[in-house]
Amino acid sequence: MSQKPEAVTGKVLDDQIIQPRGYYGREIMKGEVLRIIDLEGQQVADFVCFNLHRLEERISPENTINLNGQVYPGVGYVLISDEASKLMTIIEDTCGVHDMLAGACSSYTNEYRYGIKDTLNCRDNLAAAVEPWGLKWKDVPYNMNVFMNCPIESDGSYSIQPPKSKAGDYIDFRAEMDVLAALSNCPQEHNPCNAGELKPLRVIHFRPDPIL
Ligand SMILES: [Zn+2]
Repeated sequence: MSQKPEAVTGKVLDDQIIQPRGYYGREIMKGEVLRIIDLEGQQVADFVCFNLHRLEERISPENTINLNGQVYPGVGYVLISDEASKLMTIIEDTCGVHDMLAGACSSYTNEYRYGIKDTLNCRDNLAAAVEPWGLKWKDVPYNMNVFMNCPIESDGSYSIQPPKSKAGDYIDFRAEMDVLAALSNCPQEHNPCNAGELKPLRVIHFRPDPIL
């Protein structure tokens, strides 16, 4: 059974289970928080955000790593746009192991790596999540990988390992401007990304009280 996450303090605006292979897109206003909960443990969410009022401005993993001076996301880490604006800040994190480098799996990378065509993948999921806002596949930026474990070794080698997240682990993102946020419940089954089993996630959107 999944562990109960810490109660949110504030008004819950939305609370959803994202089934395995599913996706989610939602407008989060400045000061509001999006919580992603790994209900059973070891399940990755590929996460992106956009400036809601000008969707061509979007998360840039490169700016985020450079301007935080840190590859690994954690509390206090800011997701930064391609125009160097603050989109969202991580304000709570019970897991501590996430990835900013791996991007999202696509049918192309799955075919490159595993020789299999037409797999379910995070880039198609993210494109489906933001399609109601008029965005297309090529408009989906590269992303943060919540709960993904990709250690960098001292020789620079980089690999996908099973997540460290336990049942009930969660991460909170506070919007620093009005954003469109979207995630893919990663459907990857050809590497250890999700520890060999696809599991549900829970997403809670809330307005903190007091404002954090
Ligand atoms: Zn994926």
